[in-house]
Amino acid sequence: MINGVIIGGCSGVGKSTIIRRLLQAHPEFRFSVSWTTREPRPGEEEGIHYHFTSTEEFERLIEENGFLEWEKVYEDYYGTPKEVLESDSDEITAVIFELDTRGAIKLKEKYPQFSTIALLPPSIEDLRKRLTQRGSETEETIARRQAYLQKELQRLLTFDFALINDNLEETVQLVRRIILALNNRTKFVAPHVEKLLDDLK
Ligand code: 5GP
Repeated sequence: MINGVIIGGCSGVGKSTIIRRLLQAHPEFRFSVSWTTREPRPGEEEGIHYHFTSTEEFERLIEENGFLEWEKVYEDYYGTPKEVLESDSDEITAVIFELDTRGAIKLKEKYPQFSTIALLPPSIEDLRKRLTQRGSETEETIARRQAYLQKELQRLLTFDFALINDNLEETVQLVRRIILALNNRTKFVAPHVEKLLDDLK
């Protein structure tokens, strides 16, 4: 049984930066690369940040039941491919999902053993600043993202953990410690106990 950690939070709160830092330090964590129909932003690479695809292809995958969950976020589709849970390596100790809050709740309903971590901005002012600094957002997309924010914040209250991201380094360390602690939940360590029992025979 694999430890799934779903990281959610409003756009611009710093999810991607935090996840990137975690993955650099922990090659044994796997990132679930989502499919999306949105255009790549500067610096984003196919297969690393997302699988970029067309609306037709995405809708075909929905019909083929190829996603663990999918959502239309703003104007674009985003979805988690099923293969991500197919383990091709014993080295992987946790799968990290970066999802919008609806997708996070849906995935947790499907896999109750997964954990949800909400990242919160220190203030609305701070969040606005981060979205504007991104450079890739137009005034229209920023306004759209903000309208969605109220609902997102309410949904975040249902998450297992909630961290206020007012210091990047501290947040990365806190998420890291949570994931490492979760890896030691008894259900994930049970195969080791079974092996100990076997060796006793
Ligand atoms: P962005 O366009 O800023 O990369 O992502 C927009 C939102 O979609 C973010 O909240 C991001 O976490 C979320 N997202 C990314 N991939 C997925 C996915 O596979 N499923 C869902 N439900 N949301 C996703």
